[in-house]
Amino acid sequence: MSTETDKNSLADQDKKNNSKVYCTFCPSKMLNAGAARLVNIEFNLPYVQRKRDDEVDQKELLTDFWLVEDMYTFENIGVSQTVDNVKYLACADCERGPVGWHDLTTKKSYIALSRVKHE
Ligand SMILES: [Zn+2]
Repeated sequence: MSTETDKNSLADQDKKNNSKVYCTFCPSKMLNAGAARLVNIEFNLPYVQRKRDDEVDQKELLTDFWLVEDMYTFENIGVSQTVDNVKYLACADCERGPVGWHDLTTKKSYIALSRVKHE
């Protein structure tokens, strides 16, 4: 899901998401179509938590995110731990994550395209 073609096929001319955004692990819907805007920003997001403890601290540099201006835009979203001035976001139902982060200073949220499902 990281090629230009895939990314561009998920956004319309105004860079808004043209499909709904779901959790990759369960049927929980996070965003309706048109609720977020594609942005290119570098962020080190911890890997989705696995059972082995030694992987928890590893991070992945991601660059493609859905920017959500207001937390109330989400259909469903959960928060996990707060680190510095960011709160990691996770699925509200199965709690898998992080799928993105919420900036406590700007109040904006970012969902990684590669951590969610588009339908
Ligand atoms: Zn889920």
